[in-house]
Amino acid sequence: MKKHILIIFCLSLMITSCNSTQEKQTTPDNDFKFLVEQFADLRIMRYQVPGFESLSLKQKELIYYLSEAALAGRDILFDQNYKYNLTIRRTLENIYENYDGDRNSPEFEKFMVYLKRVWFSNGIHHHYSKDKFYPEISESYFRTLIAATPPDNFPVKTGQSLEEFTEEIIPIIFSHDIAPKAVSQSAGEDLLLNSACNFYEGVTEAEAEAFYKAQKAMDIKTGGDTLVSYGLNSKLIKRNGKVTEEVYKVGGLYSAAIEKIVYWLEKAAGVAENDLQQRTINSLIDYYKTGDLKTWDKYNVLWVGDMQSEVDFVNGFIEVYGDPLGIKATWESVVNFKDQASTKRATIISENAQWFEDNSPVDSKFKKSKVKGVSAKVITAAQLGGDCYPSTPIGINLPNADWIRKEHGSKSVTIENITYAYDQASMGNGMLEEFAADEQEIALARQYGSLASNLHTDLHECLGHGSGQLLPGTRGDELKNYGSPLEEARADLFALYYIGDPKMIELGLFDKEEVAMAEYNSYIRNGLMTQLTRIEPGKNIEQAHMRNRQLIASWAYEQGKADNVIEKFTRDGKSFVKINDYKALRQLFGKLLAEIQRIKSEGDYEAGRNLVEKYGVKVNPDLHKEVLARFEKLNIAPYGGFINPVFVPETENGKITSIKVEYPDDYAGQMLNYSKNHSFLPSIN
Ligand code: ZN
Repeated sequence: MKKHILIIFCLSLMITSCNSTQEKQTTPDNDFKFLVEQFADLRIMRYQVPGFESLSLKQKELIYYLSEAALAGRDILFDQNYKYNLTIRRTLENIYENYDGDRNSPEFEKFMVYLKRVWFSNGIHHHYSKDKFYPEISESYFRTLIAATPPDNFPVKTGQSLEEFTEEIIPIIFSHDIAPKAVSQSAGEDLLLNSACNFYEGVTEAEAEAFYKAQKAMDIKTGGDTLVSYGLNSKLIKRNGKVTEEVYKVGGLYSAAIEKIVYWLEKAAGVAENDLQQRTINSLIDYYKTGDLKTWDKYNVLWVGDMQSEVDFVNGFIEVYGDPLGIKATWESVVNFKDQASTKRATIISENAQWFEDNSPVDSKFKKSKVKGVSAKVITAAQLGGDCYPSTPIGINLPNADWIRKEHGSKSVTIENITYAYDQASMGNGMLEEFAADEQEIALARQYGSLASNLHTDLHECLGHGSGQLLPGTRGDELKNYGSPLEEARADLFALYYIGDPKMIELGLFDKEEVAMAEYNSYIRNGLMTQLTRIEPGKNIEQAHMRNRQLIASWAYEQGKADNVIEKFTRDGKSFVKINDYKALRQLFGKLLAEIQRIKSEGDYEAGRNLVEKYGVKVNPDLHKEVLARFEKLNIAPYGGFINPVFVPETENGKITSIKVEYPDDYAGQMLNYSKNHSFLPSIN
């Protein structure tokens, strides 16, 4: 599970004395340029890697190899998102590099924005909404671009002329009827046939479900345990009326890219920090070579047990948000190392995990009697890849397999150098002043917002996802497409409930309840209003995390209406929300947490669907319009992503003697570099 940053979480303007990262980071480089550029609804930032210099040479080498492995899978994600993405990317890049006409015209500028968006989203569908986006140029201008570019480097299929290629690709880019959604969540339609994502070809929802049901049945028959995440790393294709599975592995689908990942992982294994880490990396290599999901589980068990190594990584087919059925995972990687000072804060939380579990408002039969291995740390990201690049989570909790989480625990991290970069890049952007209900709310956010949101992330990741248990007989996949938003809601509610608990102050995590108030303000403001800035006019909410936030905020608003717990009011024609009773709101969070835990534990699909559909999906069109208009005046791009740092090894006689970190600030340059030097998969042919 990933936790993504929200614009509302980036509002803190002041550095709080409790936040060691900020103190630490402001010293080395005051002039560091965090915000690099803005286009469409995107802003491109940079992040620093504080502490890299103090690592040993061997650790730096490990980070370097893992970083290369993180970049090697980029093409996989493009292809997973939509089968034409690599072809389109290469077409656009060829024009960008070789077009012979006027490169300074406003039209070419618009073409560039489209290309930058394709890079950002790893394809032609918006990285967050999953809707197709379109270039703001005409088809005829696009034809002139192709005509004035030397013909050699276009990714034409074998035997295809450039003309035929052009006619094939233009509707794919421009037509609103072709592949309008990467991931459809519309109830009542066949989710697979209406989704452009490339996990299924010619396969219906019913056929996919039947296929995996049969696999599980076969597994039981042959004495297996059916706990394996069937279908996680494969594509389902219907050939001659028969559904077949193509597995991602060396020698299978995406082999050329996976071979490179394996190559760099083998180097990484050679400089592992310890024996356990070496075995962990080797089992990941095994998995990539065989595609065997039992090996993937074995790897995850080793990985989750390695809390000692300072350098760590995520690498694999992991998150299932890109598949409407929530079965198949996109490829991603994050390379990181421990932020020792901030880890102390997370450690306090995880050391008390059992207390939190025991005291939660959830029905006792849904609680874990023994919370195992909830480990938490704060990390410094060193490299982002695949589905974590350039748009990046700020917290990660893995592995996802419920049985591993239950028996071996999970590893939970907060990525603080990324949060810090967000905060720095959005200082003074006016968002808080525009949407906060009053001066007191602004003051609280400035003073405590950063600490509050870091704590929320810790609680969400370290405790929230790891809490609770399924009833015997519940597998964990009963909630289908509502599983992701409900799981995020569960983790958020756990965090919201406990950030308002006196235990926080008792544990020394903060010393004023205003911290919790700041978090409640920002959560409700975001869930009821400001996150609407990320939705296009006329659209409903599709993204899991956004559904979760509106679900929680509007449920709490409605439940507390009689007592005026949350108030909606207007001032000078503008809408605001304000919390009147924080204690009552906390009780409401607890009540909803109990219900969502019940839904998950019992696998109650009906109740889950009703909650999400009633509170999490529909948008009030008038409020939406107003929020967009107010937001537009501020001129802030709602989504952010990052340029990666570059690790440059210096060698003597073929041996690495030192590794330097550089911070490029050329977004297009980095993307082109990746497309040239870290690209291993063919276009459609
Ligand atoms: Zn989460």
